[in-house]
Amino acid sequence: MTRPRIDLHTHTTASDGTDSPAGLVTVAAAAGVDVLAITDHDTTAGWDEAAAALPRGLTLVRGAEFSCASPTGRGDLDVSVHLLGYLFDPSHPEIVAEQARLRIERVQRLRRMIEKMAADGYPVDADAVFAALPTGASAGRPHLARALVAAGVVGSVDEAFATLLHDGSPYHVSRVDTPVDTAIAMVRAAGGVAVFAHPLARRGGQVVEPSVIVELAAAGLGGVEVDHPDHTASDRDLLRGLATDLDLAITGSSDYHGTNKITPMAAETTAADALEDLLSRATGAELLTG
Ligand code: AMP
Ligand code: FE
Ligand code: FE
Ligand code: ZN
Repeated sequence: MTRPRIDLHTHTTASDGTDSPAGLVTVAAAAGVDVLAITDHDTTAGWDEAAAALPRGLTLVRGAEFSCASPTGRGDLDVSVHLLGYLFDPSHPEIVAEQARLRIERVQRLRRMIEKMAADGYPVDADAVFAALPTGASAGRPHLARALVAAGVVGSVDEAFATLLHDGSPYHVSRVDTPVDTAIAMVRAAGGVAVFAHPLARRGGQVVEPSVIVELAAAGLGGVEVDHPDHTASDRDLLRGLATDLDLAITGSSDYHGTNKITPMAAETTAADALEDLLSRATGAELLTG
């Protein structure tokens, strides 16, 4: 493995991806990935199936993407941010409780969005949307987006977000997420390492000022996702400089969601020394190799 291919951010049917966890590791191996992280939103429900199906030679980093709320650094309302946690102990009581709370919050919030749309005549039904969710999976707007595609309301998941499901839509309902400093502390207490996911991805709305990353580094953040499909070249330059100054690991990842997004597996990757840096900061769960 001279230059391993490392993709540290991917989703499965345990959240809003379209590949099963077993399917995910198969796709990763076929794409020539050597080290893969499974990072479903607010759940570790996909870990065991992915581990059991691990193809020979593929190394699995078990992780999750935590839904968080962060100050913007501008003194206005908090914004939604995502925190990647890697190699934490999945039985840590705080993580178990907070992920369970968020999964319930996700169902209630999506149900309210569906009810608002149904009241306006859209052909969507909450029970039908939730019926397809595997046990322990996190519901999200992409599940509603697919129902809208299936009903012929929109032509694609992307169009569903652009027209009906974006944060500013009258049908949008917000969620109570975890304060990001609390989430960092929780991941670390469980032996994991925390990485700020796509900090400057503006497709989801407002983003934080660089000063927030400085503060989170002081609060125990271990890395920053620099190379991400939703970051521009100048975003990447800014984040790379900041991460270097703050001694944070620099990661790159596809944020693969199967057919819910157009980005292929390993479209962006992480350097081997950055992975080593992350591993040196984590003690909660082992790497697994097939
Ligand atoms: P939620 O978790 O319910 O707030 O929905 C947000 C999720 O929707 C994100 O994790 C993305 O994976 C996904 N998403 C956001 N915008 C788009 C888009 N334009 N096309 C496809 N998926 C999207
Ligand atoms: Fe997602
Ligand atoms: Fe994300
Ligand atoms: Zn993600």
